[in-house]
Amino acid sequence: MKIAMVSEHASPLAALGGVDAGGQNVHVAALSSTLAKRGHQVTVYTRRDDPDLPARVAVAPGLAVVHIDAGPPRQIPKDQLLPFMGELAEGMRRDWKRHAPDLVHAHFWMSGLAALQASRRTDPANPVPVVQTFHALGSVKRRHQGSADTSPVARAWLEPWVGRAADWVIATCPDEVFELKALGIDPAKVSIAPCGVDLDLFPGTGAAEPRTRTHRILSVGRLVPRKGVDLVIEALPLLSEAGFADVELMVVGGSGDALTLEDDPEARRLTSLARQIGVEHQLSMRGQVPRNAMPGIFRSADAVVCTPWYEPFGIVPLEAMACGVPVVAAAVGGLRETVVDQQTGLHVPPRDPAAIAAALARLLADPEMRSDMGRAGTRRAQSRYSWERVASDTEKAYRTLLATHRSQSSGEGLEPLEGAAL
Ligand code: UDP
Repeated sequence: MKIAMVSEHASPLAALGGVDAGGQNVHVAALSSTLAKRGHQVTVYTRRDDPDLPARVAVAPGLAVVHIDAGPPRQIPKDQLLPFMGELAEGMRRDWKRHAPDLVHAHFWMSGLAALQASRRTDPANPVPVVQTFHALGSVKRRHQGSADTSPVARAWLEPWVGRAADWVIATCPDEVFELKALGIDPAKVSIAPCGVDLDLFPGTGAAEPRTRTHRILSVGRLVPRKGVDLVIEALPLLSEAGFADVELMVVGGSGDALTLEDDPEARRLTSLARQIGVEHQLSMRGQVPRNAMPGIFRSADAVVCTPWYEPFGIVPLEAMACGVPVVAAAVGGLRETVVDQQTGLHVPPRDPAAIAAALARLLADPEMRSDMGRAGTRRAQSRYSWERVASDTEKAYRTLLATHRSQSSGEGLEPLEGAAL
């Protein structure tokens, strides 16, 4: 199959851990390279955010990344990219004259807009089928962030429109399917393919980075308030009261190339909170860390804490589980599915520092429980979340769609292939 992936802000070639570079970059990179290894021709289209980027980068056999001129060639926050989606669509349409895809798979709602436009402009009578993965939904973001949500106002109606206009939608977890239904998207054209974890990079056993205190707990992610790192800082004094004072909280993640941690408002907010409640000595802000250093860091922790206000999927808990580390997870979004309560980690209610402290105290007190949960996590990550499996689920959705599309064009009835539709 010739597959066009569209990822307007999240290039698979970008450094991770900055404010707009996280799970979507990992997802697009891993899915595309696994599909290419399975024999497909994959081209990832992304916005040029640096004037020196080559137009086309051959990444691996069957996998290329194309940088399209759409807006100024510099980093721009993703919420300001909407005005450039027409140019992105036009760039793709031009490229498709030479590299026509069998289908286009868009990641994030804005990519969906560009993909639908490019598809319709290329051949209005026979548009290229469009598959959509949202990664995050504006309706959920608005519910949790309220007026702090910086999404363009038009997201409220354009995003559901993308879902309704796309030929197929791939959700990453059951929770998202309910949200999609509430947006008026037909569940008959929705299937689930989760995010995966790179099991070669994150194997079950391996070296751990040394640590200086008795215990280390770890938080990994983009430094944005909704990731809830402040809640973990607030849990530290409670953890001390429970008898665990010699604990380091390591926070991995930064703010992109533009800012140092000292200049970053969120890093400053977290440090000043730690100072206010007297736990500054327990907090290590590590900044952005390259991917290949992550496994040793995960393994150095007694527990990984993921306590966002909400989380569309969350790749970090999967990486922690793959490395054999138990996860304390807020019971929200995709985390409810990936982290099995009492088996691969402990669920806590959202925004609840006391519950985080209690869960951590249980884990720190019981090395046997930690290693049982770690082993169960590795088994779960390996059996259910390999990129091979995710790519195969995705491929199944593509084939269902293409079969439906062909029969539609030939006027036949539409019988969705068994197993792919919900
Ligand atoms: N990450 C990284 N270095 C960092 C911070 C994060 O490699 O300094 C990676 C992390 O290991 C994970 C991804 O960025 O693979 C974050 O994905 P997740 O889905 O958990 O969160 P998102 O950023 O999509 O909200």
